[in-house]
Amino acid sequence: MARAFSRIRQIEDRMTVNRSESEVESVNRAAGLHAVRVSPDTMEVLQAGLEFSRLGDGAFDITVGPLVKLWGIGTEKARVPSPEEIREALGHVGYRSLKLDASSAEAFLLSRSMRLDLGAIAKGYAADEAARILRFEGVKTALINLGGNILTMGKKPDGSPWRIGIQNPEDPRGTYLGIVTSAETSVVTSGVYERFFERDGVRYHHILDTRTGFPVSNGLTSVSIVTAHSMRADGFSTLLFALGLEKGMELALRTPDIQAIFIDDRRSVYLTPGLRGSFELTDSRFTIRPVPASP
Ligand code: ADP
Ligand code: MG
Repeated sequence: MARAFSRIRQIEDRMTVNRSESEVESVNRAAGLHAVRVSPDTMEVLQAGLEFSRLGDGAFDITVGPLVKLWGIGTEKARVPSPEEIREALGHVGYRSLKLDASSAEAFLLSRSMRLDLGAIAKGYAADEAARILRFEGVKTALINLGGNILTMGKKPDGSPWRIGIQNPEDPRGTYLGIVTSAETSVVTSGVYERFFERDGVRYHHILDTRTGFPVSNGLTSVSIVTAHSMRADGFSTLLFALGLEKGMELALRTPDIQAIFIDDRRSVYLTPGLRGSFELTDSRFTIRPVPASP
């Protein structure tokens, strides 16, 4: 346990944007100036982040940092920025200007004021690493929970499969609307309830639309992903949330190793077919609906 926790701290120290000593902040400070050498950890997460960015054509963007910083959602400085500020920040978002060189282990943001933000996948990577260490130490059964990133190993000590609650996006934390039953898997949710602030009756949450610069507003309240690796689940949950129900579901259906649960503000629940046997809806105010046909 101690080894798993110190590994999580090490990953956080390398990838956080909240401390100037982190590797990610070194890359951000050197934006437009020079490449920065990073650890294999950070390189792996950056490469995955770049792949998710390409996969969604920028709906997920690992360089969304200027926008995240501007809104400050989840900090005391959270506020609604002016249109000019948003336009300015959007001008500094663009994964195509992130250059990674795996052979020299260097990362370079090509222009000034660009900023990486690994918030959408780093927790998943940390959960995978914690599981790897526990497995190496001989642990056969475990449930790892990094603030909504769940990863299970083996079965419960009594031999039954793990049961993971899917948060009701409208209710206070801890109220679930359904249960995923499975062993050896990760379940990760991106939702409007995770981090947000309210101003003039409007809720502003923390997944940002890289076209408008505002929080994604497409009717979805959460997307959960079920797949073996937690970084993959984490990346896809944010990406599919940003893509919206139709495009997101289409991508989920094209990706055989992931299963997805989409929930919208009309209390509809949409499942990929692979979940039919392992997802149980427990809140009767919600309805499972057929997957929308792709256009
Ligand atoms: P959580 O941090 O609640 O687990 P997510 O995995 O969905 O949620 O990640 C949300 C975080 O990802 C935000 O707090 C921000 O740091 C970052 N982010 C916000 N919008 C985007 C985006 N369009 N693409 C990539 N990362 C984003
Ligand atoms: Mg995520």
